[in-house]
Amino acid sequence: MTTRILVPTPLRPHTDGKDAVDDDDIRCLQKEQTPVQPGDMVSIVPSVAGGVDTVTVDRSRTGRELPSLTHDDVRRYSRHLILPEVGVEGQRALKAARVLCVGAGGLGSPVAMYLAAAGVGTLGIVDFDVVDFSNLQRQILHGTPDVGRSKLASARDRLHGLNPDITIETHETALRSENALRLFEPYDVIVDGTDNFPTRYLVNDACVLLGKPNAYGSIFRFEGQVSVFGAANGPCYRCLYPEPPPPGLVPSCAESGVLGVLPGVIGTLQATETIKLILGIGEPLVGRFLIFDALRMRFRELKLRKDPECPVCGTHPTIRELIDYEQFCGVKPAMAEPARVDTGAMEISAVDLKARLDRGDALRIVDVREPQEYQINRIAGSVLVPLRDVPKRYHELDPNQEIVLLCKAGISSGKAADFLRSVGFARVLNLKGGILDWIDKVDPSQPKY
Ligand SMILES: [Zn+2]
Repeated sequence: MTTRILVPTPLRPHTDGKDAVDDDDIRCLQKEQTPVQPGDMVSIVPSVAGGVDTVTVDRSRTGRELPSLTHDDVRRYSRHLILPEVGVEGQRALKAARVLCVGAGGLGSPVAMYLAAAGVGTLGIVDFDVVDFSNLQRQILHGTPDVGRSKLASARDRLHGLNPDITIETHETALRSENALRLFEPYDVIVDGTDNFPTRYLVNDACVLLGKPNAYGSIFRFEGQVSVFGAANGPCYRCLYPEPPPPGLVPSCAESGVLGVLPGVIGTLQATETIKLILGIGEPLVGRFLIFDALRMRFRELKLRKDPECPVCGTHPTIRELIDYEQFCGVKPAMAEPARVDTGAMEISAVDLKARLDRGDALRIVDVREPQEYQINRIAGSVLVPLRDVPKRYHELDPNQEIVLLCKAGISSGKAADFLRSVGFARVLNLKGGILDWIDKVDPSQPKY
């Protein structure tokens, strides 16, 4: 018989991960000493940019009466009503339910649309963004005419077009420690459609503190994860990932791409879990972590256990109120930033670069993006050396020549510049704002992504 074990080690660039030997977390076995038998499968469970008995939303706590169904409701939800597992009572429970979607983006789109279609009576949505062209590849709540509009306005129109009988509550704000508890409090289930670690930990902790289930999903390139955290006696996100990955280790979807249909799969699973929680049917993904690999078209399920040492849901919690999540995730420094060196001498603006090129200065322009990005737009005469190749290919560059590094927005090229300086390149400039600024200010003929 084979066993599968989880090992919590960040072994892949985009993981803050775990490993598994069969479906058991090695932290619940003998940790690193867990013996591995022939035939065992050891696997890493990456975190991406989450069987118990039936769990039901605690309706007694809300004190809400189940509303009756109108004739229109009966017609609209007839395919639900004839399911014995839903029926009239279940549909009334859906009508009474209040669900909050954190984010109206890739995951939030299918979540909100399916919950609206299913007749969840009140849908809250938290978002502060506007619709961008690059969202349309996967964020099916929004259409081409919505580009430039607020995502909330766009979402409200789309959802009311789908089902005018439900209430949409929009919260136009970034989710923060200061407002999360107040925003979450009136809802029965929270659906995590966030795309960054600080907000993910914030959603988790707020759900645990309020005792609300968190229908968790996350996506990265071709892979997605789904679980239900924060349920009574179930594990939370911190039981799985006590610490965030080091900042910069896990790239965002904006940096590394995501298959457009992937949030459709994962968000639909989150909506399914949400509906099951409201109806109290089936086996929720509490204590189970579902991993979807779109390229191999494979689902894997790992057992998760509540960690008694968990800082927020364990037996002796150390986190009893919301903290500063940006600081926790290392996104901003804990103390005042030390006096910085003058970056002006290390950067060049797009306009200045253009002027120097026009003047005929002998600059070597090195683009550190990925080849597929370089195909979209580039500065004429630049050479491509992807960031990951810089340490092994920097010998191709002349340390005495003045070098200008660029990437999409100036962050990765800043890292490349630091590296080149560390190996003795004296004249290295980073293009401020990257190719995006170059297109904005110098060459608007090229497409932006
Ligand atoms: Zn926990």
